[in-house]
Order: sequence, then structure tokens, then C-alpha cells
Amino acid sequence: MKVWMLQQNGILEEQNRPEVVTQKMQVKVKLSKVLITENDVELLSGKFPSAIYPIIPGHTAVGVLSETCACGIDLTKGARVYLHPLFPCGVCENCKKDSVLDCTDMHIAGVNAHGFLRDFAVVNLNDVSLLPSSVSDEQALFVEWIALAESVLDTLDCSKGDHVVIYGASILGNLLAQLLIYRKIVPILVDTDVAFLDYAKKCGVYYTFKLDNTLRENIMKVTGGRLADASVYAGLSDVSPSLPFVYAAPCTNVVYAGLRFKDVEVNLKNALLKQCAVYCVTQAKKHISSAINILANKAITLPDISYRYGTIDDLPNLTRLLQIGKYSFLSPYIIKLL
Ligand SMILES: [Zn+2]
Repeated sequence: MKVWMLQQNGILEEQNRPEVVTQKMQVKVKLSKVLITENDVELLSGKFPSAIYPIIPGHTAVGVLSETCACGIDLTKGARVYLHPLFPCGVCENCKKDSVLDCTDMHIAGVNAHGFLRDFAVVNLNDVSLLPSSVSDEQALFVEWIALAESVLDTLDCSKGDHVVIYGASILGNLLAQLLIYRKIVPILVDTDVAFLDYAKKCGVYYTFKLDNTLRENIMKVTGGRLADASVYAGLSDVSPSLPFVYAAPCTNVVYAGLRFKDVEVNLKNALLKQCAVYCVTQAKKHISSAINILANKAITLPDISYRYGTIDDLPNLTRLLQIGKYSFLSPYIIKLL
């Protein structure tokens, strides 16, 4: 079986490795599409200090079952699956209590665990999800972001008609805003980047505001002067991470969320004055099934995404290909392995 192993010196080596099902609850998956994320590009360009080398890149992937498990569950060979990018550590207190979805030290594919740039992977049955026919492979590559948005939504504890201000209108802010609308909660999306706000409008988000000196007035107008019933700061946003507390109503929840973060320094003065509760949401393995359902129910839309496709041979050119950086979710780069 072939894997593409990235060495510390940035060289991607093709290697042969056995991929054999050894346990009753394991399945074998033939990989079909691997999304090249910004993490992968950083890995490939040697700029990922927390990565553990040598490592197989590839955080987000879909494939087909090539060997089903011997556990008695009725699975069809050839069925399409989404591969979970997080693996429970198996040794933390929650894992020991068999509460693996609440693992406090999830291993991350393509960061500190091998990813999916390989032709086959043997994985635990709990680490794959079957994809319904109404969800395309390409849509499935957004599952982790939708799951994260679902997890944020749970944490916000909002009711119908509440106003949630989201700082950062990139992929997480956009998907979260759409999920809020689906649940009849009112999102107000704020960003410094008009391109993200314009795209959110295309996705059906009504209140989108550029961060400028009219923001207070705009938020006051939409909320009827009450300010935000809850606030979300999306990781890697260019907006100041102290801003959510400025426009939060007293005694409300503020959630910091994302799969990746820059160093974040927050001024907590307003949080203390308003007695806000602060939460952090950075992984959402337990919401993967509901994320797939959301896609199947067409509860979110991502119009005009222009997918780009390549093969393993294109990987050395990826850094150049992904120069668009923060807009990469609008033109995802997918390695086809089938
Ligand atoms: Zn654990």
C-alpha cells in the first residue's frame, strides 16, 4: 500500500506500508479525495512548528470502504465514507471512562497523527461516517467546519429571535451564520474583508457589516439597542479578539472558536464589567453525524465554489497554487486518488 510521507526536510517520499485490518472494529478505506488545507500547505513548506515528522499529510478526506469490519454491522463494500480527522488519545480520563468523544487530547490527522495522503487507510469503524447519496464528496470535505459550527451553536445556548454577532466571516463565520438562520436565530456578521461579507450575502446572510466606525450604530439598530445576545470570535479573523465584549449584552456568552489560531491576546475589562461567560470550541468530533445530516438536508449553501483538482504529482507546486491563502475555502484544492 502506498503512503506519501513528509520528511522533516520537506521531501515527500512515496513509501510502501502494510495496511492490514487486525481488529474486529476496524475497516479498510480506499482514499478517493484528499482536501489540501492550509495546514497541509504549511506542512509541505516546512512552516509548521508543532507538526511531528515524518508524517503523512492530509487532514480532510473521503474514500470508499474496501474491507468491512468483522463486527456484525451490515456495511456495504464500496460505500462512500468521510474519514474523521480526530482520533481519541485512548489514555486521558475521558477515554478511560469510554467517553472518547470528549477526549481531552484528540490526535489530529496531518498534525500529530498520520493523515490521509495514502491509497488505503485502516481505521476504527467509529472514525468513519457513511455518506448519503445526496452529499457529494466535495461537500463532505466541509464536514469538520459544519460540525465545529454546530458545536459553537450548542455552546451559545440561544433561542429563536436572539441576535448573535459573529466576528470573522470566513468559512466558520459563514457556516455558523447559515446554521443560525436555519434555526431562526439572527446572525450579524462582522469582518474587515468585504469579499467575505459579499460571499456571505450570496449565501443568504442578511446582516453583514464591515468593521468601521458605523459598527456600533449598525449593531444597535439591528438588536433594538440590546446589543448581542451571544457573540462568536472565529479563529484567524483579522478582527480584534477583544471586540466581542464591546458589543456583547451583559451576562451573555462569548465563544472563541476555530481549528487554528494565531496568538490571541484579549482585553477582558469589558468581559468583567458585563460578567460575560467565555467558552472555547476547537473540535467537534461528536457533531460529525449532525453535520452530514445538515448537508443532506440542504440547510446550508456554498454557491460558486470553484474546486480545483490535482494529483500527487502536483504537490510540489502547491505552495504556489495556494497563494490565495485566506480565500482558499472558495477554491478548495483536492488531490484525487481514485
Ligand atoms: Zn483521550
